[in-house]
Amino acid sequence: MLGMMIAGETFASSRSVVEKPIVVILMGPPGAGKGTHAKPLGEQLGIPHISTGDLFRENIQNQTSLGQTAKSYINAGRLVPDAVVLDMLFARIDQPDCNQGYILDGFPRTVAQAEALDPRLKNSRVIAVNLNVPDPLLVERITGRLACKECGKLYHKKYSAPASQGQCDLCQGTLFQRDDDKEEILKKRLEVYRAQTEPLIEYYGKKDVLREINAADSPDSVFHLVLDQIAEPVARG
Ligand code: ADP
Ligand code: AMP
Repeated sequence: MLGMMIAGETFASSRSVVEKPIVVILMGPPGAGKGTHAKPLGEQLGIPHISTGDLFRENIQNQTSLGQTAKSYINAGRLVPDAVVLDMLFARIDQPDCNQGYILDGFPRTVAQAEALDPRLKNSRVIAVNLNVPDPLLVERITGRLACKECGKLYHKKYSAPASQGQCDLCQGTLFQRDDDKEEILKKRLEVYRAQTEPLIEYYGKKDVLREINAADSPDSVFHLVLDQIAEPVARG
């Protein structure tokens, strides 16, 4: 995995020059494509993909007390309180598989979360990739999103439909629509994004780690744009 070619050299060789863990922060509103790209990106770079939304959904499914707390916020389209998210996220990035870096999807979502994360990034190469998609397309993407109950693979009713309706191509698991992807909750999530999460664009812009991407094209072409942005500073070392 680490031997992938980026910008004319392998990721492994450029990393051995840099000798720093890489932390990729995937940013963008709901439906921008964070989850779609985070998983294959993690596989290509050989580092874990951490989605705070997925961690909450696992906790909800396992009926933990964390899941119970999170559920009421998620189903109202609101953010889970910072303290709850931070405890969960820090416990995850303290795991040994994050030593070489990790990809964050859906975190941070507030300036307070970003500030709390900062001390943990001191010895890492940080790249914040912001996926830009016009609002009408976001609504279409989210209201058409389907996910596999078993393996989490994402589909879209129109853009990436499964071969067999309601069934995952990879594991034959059942596909479902998230409760918070209904149009009325999505409206609230987009408002919350503008008010609480969008300021992070300026936050990471000031730190000079922000990369802006037009993410309105096909998943394949967007994925290559994301890879280009990650390769560039790594290859320069
Ligand atoms: P996010 O994690 O940012 O909320 P997702 O990655 O879950 O967004 O994508 C939302 C929906 O849009 C999914 O159904 C996914 O299949 C679809 N999707 C993602 N990227 C694209 C794209 N570039 N073109 C078309 N559909 C996309
Ligand atoms: P996602 O899967 O990223 O779309 O997240 C689904 C929901 O989980 C969000 O709408 C929030 O309610 C909650 N959530 C996920 N990540 C965070 C976070 N970093 N801070 C607060 N709430 C979060």
